[in-house]
Amino acid sequence: MKKPLALWLGCLILFISLTLAGLHSGSRTTRSGMAAVLGNTADGFTVVVDAGHGGEDGGATSISGVQESQINLEIARRTDAFLAFLGFNTKMIRESDTAIYDATAETISEKKASDLKNRVQIANQTPGAVLVSIHQNMFEDGRYSGAQVFYAATESSQELAERMQETLRSAVAPDNQRQTKPAETVYLMNHIQCPGILIECGFLSNEAEDLLLQDGDYQKKLALAIGVGVNGWAIEEQNEREV
Ligand SMILES: [Zn+2]
Repeated sequence: MKKPLALWLGCLILFISLTLAGLHSGSRTTRSGMAAVLGNTADGFTVVVDAGHGGEDGGATSISGVQESQINLEIARRTDAFLAFLGFNTKMIRESDTAIYDATAETISEKKASDLKNRVQIANQTPGAVLVSIHQNMFEDGRYSGAQVFYAATESSQELAERMQETLRSAVAPDNQRQTKPAETVYLMNHIQCPGILIECGFLSNEAEDLLLQDGDYQKKLALAIGVGVNGWAIEEQNEREV
């Protein structure tokens, strides 16, 4: 496990400046070339990148006063761009600060229900979908920090979560001892039919982590780790499907 990850990270460092330069450009012209160089097996997967919350639903508010929905979107954008760079088809559930409820929804709870239903529908209607939902954690005690990955009950979700947790630990925060957990009460995770994980990238209730999560370089680091995690899982998944 450790050697291939180190190898991947080594390869990625070679391409890192290119990647970072291209993260906001929206250019995906290098996709097939880079996929070929990296020898990955992204074909057949579409990573549905979900920036949690949006619009009136800002999610949690960080201790420095920033809405979770904004941080989610920044990390999701970077993740989406990096996954595309790795050769994956990708789909962002939202690309701006907006929820995606139907026009007929009126009350806040109707809007929230419609928004979640539509997110589920996007994942379920996308062939070869793998859902990666980006969120931030919040707790009353400010001392807790660290990314944690939750998984759907669908096939291969736990494998994806475990790989993701390990990648986030080794690439972003080696002291993070958090373990994966089933996303038992999360509507989105309970209604998708594809592999899916929800990543709580860190704690907005922790002073230091709150600031890190708003930092562009740290967001890129998270995006790179998430991309590497998905890629490693996809390679294993392809190998299993071919056996
Ligand atoms: Zn959230």
